Amino acid sequence: MDVYHAIVKVLRRFFDIHSFCVLEQNAQTDWSTIWSDSGFPLSFEELLPFVELAKERRSFSFYPLDEGHLLILPTLKAGRVVSVLMGYLLNDPEEFLRENESVLGFIMFFSGLVLENLRLYQEVLDSATVQEGLKKYFQTMLDSMDEAISVWDESQRLVFTNQSYIRSDPNEKVVGIIKNLVTQSYENRNRNSLEKEIEGHFYSFGTVLLGSPDQVLVSMEDISNTKELERIKKLDQIRTEFVSNISHEFRTPLAAIKAYAETIRDSFSSLDEETGQQFMITILEQSDHLEELLNRLLDFSKLENHTMQLEIENFDLVEQVQEVEQNIQKMLEMYAVSFSIETDLAKAVVSGDRKRINQVIFNFVTNAIKYRDAEKPERWAKVSIEESEEEGKVTLSVIDNGIGIPQECMDKVFEKFYRVDTSLTYTVEGTGLGLAVSKEILDKHHALIMVKSEEGKGSSFSFSLPKAE
Ligand code: ADP
Repeated sequence: MDVYHAIVKVLRRFFDIHSFCVLEQNAQTDWSTIWSDSGFPLSFEELLPFVELAKERRSFSFYPLDEGHLLILPTLKAGRVVSVLMGYLLNDPEEFLRENESVLGFIMFFSGLVLENLRLYQEVLDSATVQEGLKKYFQTMLDSMDEAISVWDESQRLVFTNQSYIRSDPNEKVVGIIKNLVTQSYENRNRNSLEKEIEGHFYSFGTVLLGSPDQVLVSMEDISNTKELERIKKLDQIRTEFVSNISHEFRTPLAAIKAYAETIRDSFSSLDEETGQQFMITILEQSDHLEELLNRLLDFSKLENHTMQLEIENFDLVEQVQEVEQNIQKMLEMYAVSFSIETDLAKAVVSGDRKRINQVIFNFVTNAIKYRDAEKPERWAKVSIEESEEEGKVTLSVIDNGIGIPQECMDKVFEKFYRVDTSLTYTVEGTGLGLAVSKEILDKHHALIMVKSEEGKGSSFSFSLPKAE
């Protein structure tokens, strides 16, 4: 409309025009009046034949009316008449026309050009609006996601983040991992993914190359809850398996005891003394095995309910180690590990639950043997007993040159059923309960367990107990 105003303004400079009317063709190719000054003498129906005329001639023309003249000025777009500007002139245009014919031609050409430009401008505006709408749509969509999304360029500059990313407020460590992944993605031109534990939280990262512009999208999700659920489920499964396995293990010694006892009952009079004694020894051995199984089961349930009770007495730590040494002879042979006790103390009498502390030493020592390093020509485990740095205490350490424990697993080895994932752990018998029970026992004694370990080098497990008064 503004264009028509401008054209009319220009026309009025050259002609004494009483009033104007503009007809325009819409998208459906129907004609309609889009502007009509009051006092314009012709109605829309009366103007339609002039439109036909303009379409035919495709150039401006004048038409005499009863009074005055009608100026017909078509606007052309790509050679087609798209609008017609009609002007009602009261004076005779002939004289003026002679001198200014080219002006009208120019106005006609110019208005066509302006209209076309305006249409193009509108199109551009429309597409910018569409783009803006799309941008908003995607932004809302990305903001509604739980995953933290960030987009990075090749120089590791952050070019986009969604709300979750901002909310997660990633610390330096997290950003460092993201940047590494971005670099990797630029290098291998591929998707990369990673699960990582950072400060007690589990994160899952994934990258996608965006193409043009060459940028990398990184998604990050805190999967701690899923991991915790997985862990609980796994623990529950292991616990069920443990109970069912151990219940199953009861059958073998029980069946043996029953069979030998029945034989003795049925053929008591005919049994010679030596055979009878052999049968009794087997029954006793199997009873010991039963007792051991029962103790494992009881320990497990005490561990579950934290109901372990201590019987405190004074006893010599050195003697306990010697007792353990006797019980591990077969194992030492089997695994070809040498064993030694190192102490400057003739006696190391401490106060605690003797049986339970013996159990802890047994567990530490058998672990030192079980997790030996087969690659090493000399494999050893030793127990050292010495005065503690803290006055009035004795420290016992079980040291080995075995496979060691990876740094990140150090805290976990005391969890119930936890076993470090190595090929050796699969071949070595174990339930992952030994250290958990040992920790429970030492906790009850208010004694700390100190662990030092280096993968490939070896480990040392120590605890201190108060000297007997
Ligand atoms: P188990 O020996 O029955 O698997 P433990 O609770 O005694 O269970 O030990 C837990 C895990 O800790 C073991 O499976 C092993 O991976 C690791 N571990 C314990 N002691 C040692 C050690 N001296 N050297 C290397 N790894 C050890």
